[in-house]
Amino acid sequence: MNPERVIRDMPAHGAFRIIARAAHTISRKNIAPGALRVLYRLHEAGYQAFLVGGAVRDLLLGGHPKDFDVATDATPEQVRALFRNCRLIGRRFRLAHVVFGREIVEVATFRGGSDDGSGDRHLVDGRLVRDNVYGSIEEDAVRRDFTVNALYYDIADFSVRDAVGGMDDLQHRVLRLIGDPQQRYREDPVRMLRAARLAAKLDFTIAPETAAPFATLGPLLAEAPPARLFDESLKLFLGGHGLASLRSLERHDLLIHVFPATARALRQHPDTPFRALLEQSLASTDARVHEDKSVTPAFLFAAMLWGPMRLTEQSLIDGGSDPSAAWRHAVDRVLREQAQRVAVPRRFAVMVEEIWSLQPRFAQNAKKSVFRLLEHPHFRAAYDFLMLRVAESPGLAELAAWWTQAQQLDRVMLTESLAALPVLPVAPTLPGEPPPQLKRLRRRRRKRGAGKTAAPPKGAGE
Ligand code: ATP
Ligand code: MG
Repeated sequence: MNPERVIRDMPAHGAFRIIARAAHTISRKNIAPGALRVLYRLHEAGYQAFLVGGAVRDLLLGGHPKDFDVATDATPEQVRALFRNCRLIGRRFRLAHVVFGREIVEVATFRGGSDDGSGDRHLVDGRLVRDNVYGSIEEDAVRRDFTVNALYYDIADFSVRDAVGGMDDLQHRVLRLIGDPQQRYREDPVRMLRAARLAAKLDFTIAPETAAPFATLGPLLAEAPPARLFDESLKLFLGGHGLASLRSLERHDLLIHVFPATARALRQHPDTPFRALLEQSLASTDARVHEDKSVTPAFLFAAMLWGPMRLTEQSLIDGGSDPSAAWRHAVDRVLREQAQRVAVPRRFAVMVEEIWSLQPRFAQNAKKSVFRLLEHPHFRAAYDFLMLRVAESPGLAELAAWWTQAQQLDRVMLTESLAALPVLPVAPTLPGEPPPQLKRLRRRRRKRGAGKTAAPPKGAGE
């Protein structure tokens, strides 16, 4: 698409469509108190002050935004002068954060459309690496990503301003990139992931011209900073719409650029049981997020990379590798390759390895191993992962059920149950391999000393 045509199609400067208070649904009672205070304070000081971005979009859709962004014509320094509880952050985008306890309101100065040399804008190979050129609200609107993200709620008269057709797109539930898609993705390839994520989160369709460049420009994501892709991964998969995000990324052929090994594992084996594990994992993570429970990036990465890790391990074994060396090498290789795309902080990578390496230990039935495993700091995450693996390998169901029950028992009961409950199989030869079919021991009266050692091997091997 010709960029000039798009710019000309948009209303000229100042030609905002203004939707009066009576004609939209945004009510001040749904705006966080801190954000309202910032808007009023800026307004009273004579500056323009608007709520903008995702908050306006979500309020218009009837949602409850978690964060509120404010746009103003005051410079970051002028903002700082107005608020005691304010700090300036960011290099790529200089911003003011105004802090009210747990609420942080992000205040950004309108970005300009052109750099006359006085501002601070920096492009490398068409990529926007710094953008601190200030401008008017009209200029600010057209440099935002999607039309529905460029609506401004004006605290002066409670109207909504729309310079890019965002209201129409919102009504039709369409995500449309502002301006020339090719150019906008070249400036910032992460916008492709934002498109997939927001379409998933909002249940919007991506406009055809907005999705068209994915096939050719998707590979630009390989050049996005891995730290930024880590942040974006958390938004994609730990934001409460992880399963929908996965489907959206797969549908638009973008997963391959962020989680290449995962995409390949899912694509090469269309009905791989790994898909069941991953989808189950994302669905339960979504449920936890909606219940306000904690989620950890380690668990996400353990699930995303489990399939690739097992495939790598298998191919190493097929190539003659010793099974335990194959496991170790597969873990190293998969984590190292993923780190080239997404910078997983060390502490999470270590926990991914632990969640995985604890898996074979669930199949060890010696009393000492059982107690040690229960006391392991990452027992809970590893156990949750074992539950997930049941989706992949239904043969693990009985083992998982045993561990579910084991956690309810005190030490004495647990010791007894080691003999009385289904006997755990011997450790599988392959770490993480589904255990052989479990057999149930006939209930016996406990003899003195029973349970001090491993549950009798009878039943396990018979
Ligand atoms: P979310 O619901 O995930 O918070 P959001 O739209 O609020 O969605 P943010 O990352 O909070 O996303 O960004 C706030 C606003 O900043 C966006 O609505 C958009 O107007 C603008 N924006 C964010 N990232 C970009 C980008 N990469 N390019 C252009 N504009 C962007
Ligand atoms: Mg936001």
